[in-house]
Amino acid sequence: MPDRDNYLRAHNTRHQFHPMIHPMISADAPPQIITGSEGCYVTDIDGNRLVDGLGGLWNVNVGHNRAEVKQAIVEQMDRISYYSSFAGTATPPSIELSAKICEMAAEEEITKVMFSANGSDAVETALKLARQYWQLEGKPTRTKFLSLKQGYHGVHFGGLSVNGAPYYRNAYEPLLGGCFQVDSPWTYRNPYSEDPEELADAVITQIDRLIQAQGPETVAAFIAEPVQGAGGVIVPPESFWPKLREVLDRYEVLLIADEVVTGFGRSGALFGARGWGVKPDMMCFAKGISSGYVPLGATALNKRVADAWYRGFSPEGIIMHGYTSTGHPVGCAAALACLDIVEREDLPGNAAKMGKRLLDGLTPLAESCSIIGEVRGKGLMVGLDFVSDKKSRTPMDPGKGIVERIASFAREEGAIVRPAGSVIILSPPLVIEEPEIDIIVEALTRACARYDAEQ
Ligand code: PMP
Repeated sequence: MPDRDNYLRAHNTRHQFHPMIHPMISADAPPQIITGSEGCYVTDIDGNRLVDGLGGLWNVNVGHNRAEVKQAIVEQMDRISYYSSFAGTATPPSIELSAKICEMAAEEEITKVMFSANGSDAVETALKLARQYWQLEGKPTRTKFLSLKQGYHGVHFGGLSVNGAPYYRNAYEPLLGGCFQVDSPWTYRNPYSEDPEELADAVITQIDRLIQAQGPETVAAFIAEPVQGAGGVIVPPESFWPKLREVLDRYEVLLIADEVVTGFGRSGALFGARGWGVKPDMMCFAKGISSGYVPLGATALNKRVADAWYRGFSPEGIIMHGYTSTGHPVGCAAALACLDIVEREDLPGNAAKMGKRLLDGLTPLAESCSIIGEVRGKGLMVGLDFVSDKKSRTPMDPGKGIVERIASFAREEGAIVRPAGSVIILSPPLVIEEPEIDIIVEALTRACARYDAEQ
């Protein structure tokens, strides 16, 4: 349909505000129009077939266009396309999915789930329920939230308040009071130590001191991603999460694992925190839970937290929170089909295996490419860290457009990758196999060589 294609090209940026980009820049370099998808591939409006190195937006874990997920969606639509889990109602898929998540997270003693429509909602739900939990526990002064400096927890006001990077927050302040950030346990860039264990100890000491300075009786929860994603794919030292759990337990502070990216396999374990051997008090899910087929978020509570609502009826225990989309039957049906695939096809196992191949394939670029300082990752989360000076590890100024340029070269070479600040992020579908991993590696290797040849 050439007329329609021309219409779409002409109108691409005319009426739509795109996230995380200046509207004037998107008019100059309009977003690529994606028109089709299958498995690990997408097709754009110009007919290019590309490996989806991003897996949508870290979310299409089961791959695009899977027949069984579409069938589950259509069958659910035929039965009932919408009803909520508000006060007096529920739909079968919302009941089945909450039971399924509790079964999958039995090791973490997850006993309750509250649904929403996306990751920002799931985080908001966790923060609000954490405060309500402390009220129910008779400790209403516990209201503060702690998080990591490179953390990303979505865009609602609560999540924004615990996000690490100021550039997400600046235009939208003032935000929630009582939110404090500590350094990320980031081996490549930190003022403490290159030794992972020393670094983990230094950050834990900082957390310990912060809790003491604020007063443990004022701190509600610590929220963190098991592997930090949008902040640049930051993999903490092995011991960091166990030590984090320990220090929080010492002061009875809740641990919220933001598993929006890591949940259901991406980091190579079913849950990111499980990969570190840690049981959080709450977990936030979205993205991979329904692989993006239908938006869905979920906040899971362990027994310790959930039981607070069952110590007897009180008006304080009414959950005055929820969304029109809470328990959306089509989202829940899609998620049930996706989680079935996650288990049946052992997607966490494949993420670990293919992630290693991706990391091994790209690691030589830290030597061969003049502007890559480090290649790092865990499971199918990989980041290429671009620097203006390898010795000082100074991050490449995103304003120079160099990282975008490499990403667009990679696209011309056959793979979609995501420039995020000074890092290129990779998060392909968890069903990816060797040939597609190799296409991503080759596309980025050629893209970097093209850049270096131009200098
Ligand atoms: N938490 C994390 C860790 C995320 O990566 C994201 C999204 N990238 C969110 C929360 C917010 O999710 P959503 O964009 O679905 O609101």
